[in-house]
Amino acid sequence: MEVGICVAGGVEELEVVDLAMLRDAGINSIYVGCYENEMRWHAEEYAAFVRAAALAGFEVCVIPWGYGKVVDPDPAIDSLYVDTHREHLQVDSRGRRCYKACPNNPKFLEWFASEMRTTAWMLEAHGFLWDEPSFYFSRGVWACRCEYCQRLFYAAENYALPRDLNEPVRAFRRLSIKVFVLAAAAAVQAVDNRLYSLVMPSPALDTTQDNTGTDDWADLLDSSAIDGIALYVPWQEHQVDPSHAIQELHTLAQARQRGTLKPCHLWLAASPRPQDRTIENIVVARRTGCPRVVLTDYTTVFRAQGSSRMVPRLRDVNATG
Ligand SMILES: [Zn+2]
Repeated sequence: MEVGICVAGGVEELEVVDLAMLRDAGINSIYVGCYENEMRWHAEEYAAFVRAAALAGFEVCVIPWGYGKVVDPDPAIDSLYVDTHREHLQVDSRGRRCYKACPNNPKFLEWFASEMRTTAWMLEAHGFLWDEPSFYFSRGVWACRCEYCQRLFYAAENYALPRDLNEPVRAFRRLSIKVFVLAAAAAVQAVDNRLYSLVMPSPALDTTQDNTGTDDWADLLDSSAIDGIALYVPWQEHQVDPSHAIQELHTLAQARQRGTLKPCHLWLAASPRPQDRTIENIVVARRTGCPRVVLTDYTTVFRAQGSSRMVPRLRDVNATG
């Protein structure tokens, strides 16, 4: 099993990432969070980091963050696009604009695809990860009811978009996210057709309710544009036993692969703190047959108190498999 690391600290952190130390720890892939508002001014620094990491033998995957906040789970990450294009944002079931662009808005899609082509061209990475592409949902309030979503739903179903988040609406949102990811993957592949696309669906252990459009990601795995799935293991948030959560997600991934044999990576919040059980969780994931674990993130693993202990422990666990 491979072990990767997520570098989430932006351009400031790129300067301090110690590639030799990562290699020493047995890490072989790097997931670089690329912020919309930083890429405007610091694309060169990002490009230099990706080049150096690839030259050092790492597989490098870019995670675009911000960018209209369609692909963005963290409300704290700003998007200049969202600030300046209110008319392209999702409209919720109360009629209010959300802080998230609508993946069905053609003008947003055009801008997003163009930004991703530029990013793919500037950063010569191996692939992209689309992080939780989603529609807004909070406490029963859902999006999107913008004019484009209403038109698209009517064209497909021949009746007006319902006010309730019922099954036809959920199916429409799932399809919209799938089409959005197809467009994103096509944009980067227009630059280099070897660029792979991974999707991280919204983390949930209970997948019976699809509130964001990606909770049921079996369809995404079936899509020809998707080369694999990245699943965040939300054991701390759900206060469950991590080995149980890892096994459960891995089993779910196997069931949903339905013979596609696309890789399902597991993402683990990691740190040297004993209660985060980083090494133990890597061992459990390996036993399930998971092909890759990605630790998140560089700051919490390698820049925290006790980090010096992590390198030898990671080296040892990676050396044994
Ligand atoms: Zn919409």
